[in-house]
Amino acid sequence: MKFEPSRSFALKKLENFIENNLSQYSKLRNFDFGPEKRSNISCISPYVTHGILTEVEIIKEVLKKSLFIKNEKFIQEILWRIYWKGWLELRPTVWSDYLTNLKKKKLEFKDNQNYLNAIKGKTNIECFNQWVIELKEFNYLHNHTRMWFASIWIFTLNLPWELGAELFLKHLFDGDSASNTLGWRWVAGIQTKGKHYLATEWNIKKFSNNRFDKIKLNEKIIPVFSDKIHPLVKNDFSEAKNINDKNLLVFDNSLSFEVTDLTNHNFKNIFIISNENDTRSIKISDKSINFKKYLIDDQEIRLKKKSIKYEKINIKEIKSIGEPLVALYPSVGENIDFLNKNNIKNIEFIYRKIDKFSWKFCNKGFFNFKNYIPKIIQEFI
Ligand SMILES: Cc1cc2nc3c(=O)[nH]c(=O)nc-3n(C[C@H](O)[C@H](O)[C@H](O)COP(=O)(O)OP(=O)(O)OC[C@H]3O[C@@H](n4cnc5c(N)ncnc54)[C@H](O)[C@@H]3O)c2cc1C
Repeated sequence: MKFEPSRSFALKKLENFIENNLSQYSKLRNFDFGPEKRSNISCISPYVTHGILTEVEIIKEVLKKSLFIKNEKFIQEILWRIYWKGWLELRPTVWSDYLTNLKKKKLEFKDNQNYLNAIKGKTNIECFNQWVIELKEFNYLHNHTRMWFASIWIFTLNLPWELGAELFLKHLFDGDSASNTLGWRWVAGIQTKGKHYLATEWNIKKFSNNRFDKIKLNEKIIPVFSDKIHPLVKNDFSEAKNINDKNLLVFDNSLSFEVTDLTNHNFKNIFIISNENDTRSIKISDKSINFKKYLIDDQEIRLKKKSIKYEKINIKEIKSIGEPLVALYPSVGENIDFLNKNNIKNIEFIYRKIDKFSWKFCNKGFFNFKNYIPKIIQEFI
């Protein structure tokens, strides 16, 4: 399994999946057949996370092939990412609290042998050890495996979810503040109060196609408890009215903006912004940093082909760019944190239309959000 850092590769991957495997997706999606047998799922998440492929273009391609009703499950999954993002936008303290608690747990567990064995893949649970190797080697794990991994981490190895979420963010090419933090909270049982996800021996055996033996797990568990309330923030996501003649900032999660209608505007200049480990709270692996770097290089090639003027800068250089500034909204996460920490307030944001529209429906659970999916499709597809 290989993730080439380019939009052309991502488009081919999507096209191939739609053509050959989409029709079986809802039936086979929960099976993890191993890293070399991934055709039952799309494996496009590293590209969607970075905005290389957008949710709108993916769903349009799907619906070119066949009807909504036949692909409802896949479309729901695609929109799940927007839901998690919106959910976190409305409760940004979930992210800031996560970072604060992570700091504490890191100190507390820095010499904990159980933790050190887990991150090296040296536990007595064979499948878990394999997944640690897979995570570091392929920078990807199947969704079901992410659930098993997190459940074993929390309930059998008795480790804090915050440290497991950090390990994922470090290595996953699709590492994403919303999907990852909320995915781990959900497994732990603090995202949906009292509902946790329990990995069991029979479930792992069945859905890993019997690839693992001797799976001794703690199957009698108590969900993680948290009485912390994260109030909904009032945010109408008000945005820049006039964006012409301004400097545009593009962060590493909007790396195909050149295929949107934004190119109809006249920007003073466009700045593609990288965020390295010295400006991140969670330090990511060299492979993940390089993956982002190569995606930016690929963006450059496409901008050059279209004769679009741009500059590549490090996030620390934003302060030296002349005003007025507009930015494609980077969402709750490391990029926004940098702006806030450095008191960079003179930026107006441009939101993706589908986010602004959909985030209104993210104040409750996903089952509620699902009811609005036809509305979202009608509006944008
Ligand atoms: C503990 C945990 C941590 C996770 N961390 C991340 C993360 O850091 N980054 C990330 O992108 N996803 C994360 N996920 C969600 C999900 O596992 C991945 O998006 C999915 O496995 C990507 O593989 P795929 O592209 O083959 O998915 P497919 O099954 O082919 O789905 C297509 C697309 O739908 C979206 N999608 C599918 N499932 C989910 C989901 N549960 N939540 C949000 N979007 C989804 C993704 O954009 C995905 O590319 C996490 C899930 C769990 C349980």
